[in-house]
Amino acid sequence: MPPEFLETLIAGAEALVQVQDAPELPWALAEAVHDPAYLQRWRSGDVTRAEERAMGFAWDASIARRGLLSCGATLAATRDALQGGWGLNLGGGTHHAYREHAEGFSFLNDVVIAASWARREGLAARVAVLDLDVHQGNGTASMLAGQAWALPVSLHGASNYPFVKEEAGVNVPLPDGTGDDAYLAALEDEAFPAVRAFGPDLLFVLAGADVLAGDQLGRLALTPEGVRERDRRAYALAGELRVPCVTVMAGGYHRDPQRTVEVRLSTVREWVAAAGAAAPFGGRGAPPGSVP
Ligand SMILES: [Zn+2]
Repeated sequence: MPPEFLETLIAGAEALVQVQDAPELPWALAEAVHDPAYLQRWRSGDVTRAEERAMGFAWDASIARRGLLSCGATLAATRDALQGGWGLNLGGGTHHAYREHAEGFSFLNDVVIAASWARREGLAARVAVLDLDVHQGNGTASMLAGQAWALPVSLHGASNYPFVKEEAGVNVPLPDGTGDDAYLAALEDEAFPAVRAFGPDLLFVLAGADVLAGDQLGRLALTPEGVRERDRRAYALAGELRVPCVTVMAGGYHRDPQRTVEVRLSTVREWVAAAGAAAPFGGRGAPPGSVP
């Protein structure tokens, strides 16, 4: 997102929640789930052109720090959720990062890092990831494959990147041009029952704005009202299950970046409404959001 639109997003969010600077993630938490040699190569710039192409941009010296800040904000949001029921990162959602390779603008898998941290600390025993970005959370699915404590659920465009989908977890592919009604039906009929059946005690929501009609990297056709209803229903599910809920923003690439900003702020508004209406877990009230 161009810097001026990022500033608009932060200013808009500050009118709704208390926005905090992101803390840096300790490297050890990334090393707990990613291959340490992979991390070291991306820290030092020892990457090939093919790796840069898969990532989507050329290596530069700020990649490691930006990754740590984005993941640090997701970790802070996870702490908020575990303490007060609700947590929010205005960035994050780098769900294409694998254990030992980067792709799709994703170097560190923030949600897997935070979920694994919560589990190791004994703060969560069953973690569901409701990935509503338009692209399949392939890195997340790969990293959580075969782990009985975690359930990745991905609702995504069938013909979008990644063109080879991971099979782990629950996958709900949607045809090009899917609009509000069909999207919300898939959410209610396929994604939510899977989360309910799994019975998580921690829920991550990737509230991708790239499901919006006109997104340059998406092929679905939701309206802003449809995205808002998606978010409202996701938070209602968290309330129904009385499970701490962490929201990260994931992708959004509308040709008019202001449209992406508006959808992001609508997610924040629904988050505030949900957090203010009930604290499903703990009692600290609406916690501050965090921004990378
Ligand atoms: Zn995406």
